[in-house]
Amino acid sequence: MIELKNIEKRFGDNVVLRDISVSMAERSVTALVGPSGGGKSTLLRCINLLELPNAGTVRIGAEALTFGTGSRVATGDIQRLRRQTGMVFQNFQLFPHRTAIENVMEGLTVVLKWPEAKARARAMSLLEKVGMAQKADAWPATLSGGQQQRVAIARALAPSPRVLLCDEPTSALDPELAQEVVDVLSRLADEGTTMVMATHDLRLASTVAGEVIFLEAGEIVEKGPAAAVFGRPERERTKRFIATLRQEQQTSASAT
Ligand code: ADP
Ligand code: MG
Repeated sequence: MIELKNIEKRFGDNVVLRDISVSMAERSVTALVGPSGGGKSTLLRCINLLELPNAGTVRIGAEALTFGTGSRVATGDIQRLRRQTGMVFQNFQLFPHRTAIENVMEGLTVVLKWPEAKARARAMSLLEKVGMAQKADAWPATLSGGQQQRVAIARALAPSPRVLLCDEPTSALDPELAQEVVDVLSRLADEGTTMVMATHDLRLASTVAGEVIFLEAGEIVEKGPAAAVFGRPERERTKRFIATLRQEQQTSASAT
């Protein structure tokens, strides 16, 4: 279970997240949606502590850290909590000078100090899971965006994190390549992978997410089961935003 309690994040005077409290069940998939600048990326980065909240508590499984009490949070504690998470970025961020399988192995051999053969075997089984085994020895630059993102997903899953965080995982991809990433994430969701994803991609959010959080100006406007938030949004703001997403999706579908 992931629990955020009274999370606040400021950049200087700019309050980017205000008093965010939400919990996400084990094996659930949550989509963070909302206008650009609303705080989706910052919220994800506060879960893996790439950004430290100014106040509030982050809990992942048995690990919890509270910020803003005046006492400094130890680096070792931050790393322990961060290791409960895996992160997938919009622009993949593979190491360009490592092959696909080496990218997946890196965290296992360097951080977890696994022996090479064991790391390679795990990396290969993850590449199979994302349909990339045949490209294990390829360099990232020779792969399509969709293929790179599938390798990045395998890399994020390698250390068996409790939660997979995805920041706009399909936004840099053409619709066709986005679909192969949606398919992989959808399969992971069916297998019970706990995920939190920021996305503008209605197809991704509505096929993969069970829960939706609509975030605007650092506050949760509406949250609930995906079918309810997408099908019968309660708040006027949510209705308008979802209508915009539908329109964008139709435009991009008719463009291809
Ligand atoms: P979203 O992902 O929903 O588009 P972000 O979390 O990226 O929103 O940004 C929320 C707000 O926080 C924006 O106003 C953005 O300019 C600000 N912000 C994000 N990261 C930083 C940073 N490292 N330094 C200063 N301001 C930031
Ligand atoms: Mg963002």
